[in-house]
Amino acid sequence: MIDIKEDKRLAAQWMEELSTGTMDSESMADLAQSGIETCEGYCGSREYTGVDCCRCIRELFPSYADYKLYLEARMRFKTLYSLGLLAQRVSTETKGENKK
Ligand SMILES: [Zn+2]
Repeated sequence: MIDIKEDKRLAAQWMEELSTGTMDSESMADLAQSGIETCEGYCGSREYTGVDCCRCIRELFPSYADYKLYLEARMRFKTLYSLGLLAQRVSTETKGENKK
């Protein structure tokens, strides 16, 4: 059983933790690539602390600032990934004939 009051207190503390860089960039890059899966099924913690700071997220990230960094990195990864696909098409196209 989780202590709701304690969990809320920990969530608030976690949100206020502003120091970043506790997470190494290697793990951050891994997460940005794979994405995270949180709250499989019902999550009691999410119910009363909110989607952005439930226990599952707090277990993965040392602070909210790190979580925000992750969201940013994940978004960039997706953008770069689609650009990469596009770049591949471009190089295949330029290897072929010059079509108009
Ligand atoms: Zn959760």
